Amino acid sequence: MTYSPIFGILKNMLKEYRTLLPYFRKYKFKYIFGIIFLIITDAGQLYLPQFIRKAINSLSNGAFESSLIASLMIQMVVVALIISIGRFFWRFFLHGASRRIETELREKIFYHLLTLSSSFYGKRKTGDLMARMTNDMKAVRMASGMAFVAFTDGLFMALAILAILLINYTKLTLIVIIPLPFINLIVMSTGRLLGKRFKRVQDSYSSISERVQELLSGIRVIKTFRKEDHFLEQFDKDNTDYWEANMSLTKIWGGIFPIVMFLSGVTVSLLLYFGGKQVVLGTLAPGDFVAVLSYLGMLTWPMMGAGFTINLIQRGGASLMRINEVLKEKPDIVNIDEPGDVPELKTLSLRNLNYSFDNGKKVQVIKDFNLDLNAGETLGILGRTGSGKTTLIRLLPRLLESEQGTLWYNNIPIHELKLSQLRAAISMVPQETILFSRTIRENILFSREDAPQEDLERVIRISTLERDLKNFPKGLETMVGERGITLSGGQKQRIALARALLADPQILILDDALSAVDTKTEEYILHEMMKIRKGKTNILISHRVSTLQVSDKILVLDKGQIGQFGSHEELLKEEGLYRKIAVLQSLENEETP
Ligand code: ADP
Repeated sequence: MTYSPIFGILKNMLKEYRTLLPYFRKYKFKYIFGIIFLIITDAGQLYLPQFIRKAINSLSNGAFESSLIASLMIQMVVVALIISIGRFFWRFFLHGASRRIETELREKIFYHLLTLSSSFYGKRKTGDLMARMTNDMKAVRMASGMAFVAFTDGLFMALAILAILLINYTKLTLIVIIPLPFINLIVMSTGRLLGKRFKRVQDSYSSISERVQELLSGIRVIKTFRKEDHFLEQFDKDNTDYWEANMSLTKIWGGIFPIVMFLSGVTVSLLLYFGGKQVVLGTLAPGDFVAVLSYLGMLTWPMMGAGFTINLIQRGGASLMRINEVLKEKPDIVNIDEPGDVPELKTLSLRNLNYSFDNGKKVQVIKDFNLDLNAGETLGILGRTGSGKTTLIRLLPRLLESEQGTLWYNNIPIHELKLSQLRAAISMVPQETILFSRTIRENILFSREDAPQEDLERVIRISTLERDLKNFPKGLETMVGERGITLSGGQKQRIALARALLADPQILILDDALSAVDTKTEEYILHEMMKIRKGKTNILISHRVSTLQVSDKILVLDKGQIGQFGSHEELLKEEGLYRKIAVLQSLENEETP
């Protein structure tokens, strides 16, 4: 019997498994102890047929004595006990190691996901990433635990049984094991195919996760446009794909098992014929015949074990490949080697700033943009949808990367500033409010966990949340989201604003962040907000002239360029979008009772 194909496959797989090497090293003692106990268990099992051999031989050659049987029985019980203890401990050590590896690898990916830039999340689907974090991790655990057991167990048992058989029953063994290499061959030759089909299974599981994720996040839109049937159809397709992928895997795996059982049956019949003949001729004792039969039975497992190992290793390899794909992703926005500390931001300068998205096709969004903003100033931005407002402000905390030498703070290029400090100095309230499934207090304190109570109360007052909190069942301790209350759009936006205000950033950016709040409340909020923002910079993006008019300077963005620039009063006098919108909105206000 040859195990070399296993080594060959292991070698091929090593490329993917390299990710696990540090963990194998870290838990080497768990593995060593695990293997020792595994071998003790195996040795016990190998000894059991000897008791049967002795018992039967004593029965057949007339040397039977009840004291001998009693002693054999006691010995068997002791060995069985050793096997049980050994089995407990190998499981304890080897499964323990694989669970630790799974936990730490998952943590590593989670940490890595946190470091990746938003461009990564733009191209990866949430459901797919979720599947990699769960399903694929399970396959890796199986490979680093069960496969390891199967491999060590199989190799040890096979070699030991062959040694026992060949030493004691050389000729007979050489005949009866003829079918065994075929078992090995079949199992090995299907290994690669199994790996490929398993990858298909994992990929289609990813698709199902994606669909479910889409359904959960988009259920309202799906219902509004009555797209339930459409989604069901797509899900059915993915679900069927998953089933088919699993079936194609089961077909091979299911085919292997009967063939292995058949070949092992052939081995037994060879033994019955040739071994039986020797028993009749008296050259083989009946007890030895039974022992050989037991050992041959025990050989089937290592033969299957080889296949089992390969299956698990292939699965683990396919899953590790999917995990490594994520781990290989590099954050594209990082610190330079020795970044400088972020000083108190006094000026912000944009010099011939350009920005293009490049998803296969380059789309220029910001064009030759120039702007200077000083600490203490408030800049308003108005622009049609798609004019580049969000893109522009995302460049400021380096959520998007600008070209070298086009964006400066205090005349220091943005790339030379420490990223974490830069982001701490700039707070942004995005258009889409993101609150976490935590209490309202935790959501607000998210930006500054150690904020004193009075600061918390102040931002709650400015964001006009006091009245809302009184109506919530547990006030500030009310849970948000699935496990708590459903907030209105305006409430969410005001909590997000409180969160950003609490950070007391040097630059505060509101990206249409109060669109769901009524004009009157918004006016109050902005008025109160400006009081605590003295000496600091604010950027307000809005479609409402009433919001923008609190700004010192207002720019009208037109296809990534400055269309108009000036104070509220100046822009009202000028022909252009600003005046057009101001007139429309003042008419609207007159109409509202
Ligand atoms: P605004 O905030 O003014 O509505 P955006 O800055 O969001 O505009 O978008 C400006 C343009 O950039 C739009 O044409 C939009 O389609 C494009 N855009 C925005 N984000 C991406 C992205 N991640 N990949 C490719 N194009 C994008």
